[in-house]
Amino acid sequence: MSNRVVQGRMVTAERLAELIEGESPMEADGIEDADRDCPECGGDVITVDYMPSVTELVTGYKCQDCDWSTTDR
Ligand SMILES: [Zn+2]
Repeated sequence: MSNRVVQGRMVTAERLAELIEGESPMEADGIEDADRDCPECGGDVITVDYMPSVTELVTGYKCQDCDWSTTDR
């Protein structure tokens, strides 16, 4: 599991999921590069799979340079 820099701060997978979801996930997998660019600023997008609850698995996306994020919900 590798940490990444998001908006100038080093984040773990758990912290990245928290930034996307707005609250801490029960569990988060490793951070990976998403094969897409940010629609807001064109920056690099990273992705993380996480579980906001025991019954839900969500793939979240977050730009490394701005506030943009989304999920596959
Ligand atoms: Zn962006």
